[in-house]
Amino acid sequence: MSDTHPTPSAVGAPSGGPVVARTRDELRTARASLTGGDVAVVMTMGALHEGHATLIETARRKAAHVVVTIFLNPLQFGPREDLSRYPRTFDSDMEICRKAGVDLVFAPTPDVIYQDGDPGVRVSAGPLGNVLEGQARPGHFDGMLTVVGKLMHLTGADSAYFGQKDAQQLLLIRRMVRDLDFPVDVVSVPTVREPDGLAMSSRNTYLTDSDREVALCLSRALRAGASAAAEGPSAIRRAARSVLVREPLALVDYLVLVHPSTLEDVPEWYRGEALLAVAGRVGTTRLIDNVPLLVGPGGRALEVFSDVDTATPAIPSATGRPDAD
Ligand code: AMP
Repeated sequence: MSDTHPTPSAVGAPSGGPVVARTRDELRTARASLTGGDVAVVMTMGALHEGHATLIETARRKAAHVVVTIFLNPLQFGPREDLSRYPRTFDSDMEICRKAGVDLVFAPTPDVIYQDGDPGVRVSAGPLGNVLEGQARPGHFDGMLTVVGKLMHLTGADSAYFGQKDAQQLLLIRRMVRDLDFPVDVVSVPTVREPDGLAMSSRNTYLTDSDREVALCLSRALRAGASAAAEGPSAIRRAARSVLVREPLALVDYLVLVHPSTLEDVPEWYRGEALLAVAGRVGTTRLIDNVPLLVGPGGRALEVFSDVDTATPAIPSATGRPDAD
């Protein structure tokens, strides 16, 4: 794959913005200058938006230094997926990084990351990588974990920040770090949404105006499900489904209420934390969204779901603070 990043000003930040590293040598040099405190990494595929900015700002508040990686990882895209049309917005990405006080941006091309071409050895996501997103996107999570592992090693970060928006990804990264003893603290950051509830995503730029209206049914379904959280699993699923069936232009791939660490459907008697997750295609765009819930007495959404839509009941707010482990 070729990348369309403009030729960088290599290493150096005359305007006081982040240092840009393109090669392993440039990264090594720039990384060595981040002394006197811990280093956090925020890994992205570019086309940065407020969701990414929130990850960066959260990292900025907690760590002495922040490294952002911008890398469109060919390994995690299937042959019929959107790698070639994925938005590439390097200049505005850099502006966001500059405003958020990023120290170092690592923006390599695939040949820098995969020096010998396709890696023969990859991280296996195991069974949790074969369900939900993994079922729709075979090999996706192996490719994702492989690059996350490599970027953890290359950046030498003490902590890494990931969005709850990609809940299965976050779970698998936590598992990899634990199962393979990576010395990295994984921190999750709640999903950042547009004022109308749509989860922010680089892929939202593919949506036409009418697609965007249709896409709102995903977050509305989650809100409806969350509003039934006290009543138990079948009420939650029913409430969410009732929103989706009213929008035939959203081709729903799955709507599930699952245990947050096994991703198995929770039974009717289940009480406690669960994940209500949805995926579907709107126009040409595949979108995912989720909300962590407390199921049963006192049931509620465990995220700030801004009070956007009078058509469905508001969801009580949680603190919205990132949780670390
Ligand atoms: P991406 O560039 O889409 O691979 O995302 C990079 C990181 O940003 C991942 O940890 C995502 O989970 C996170 N992220 C993407 N969108 C959002 C969002 N709307 N809110 C919070 N985090 C997000």
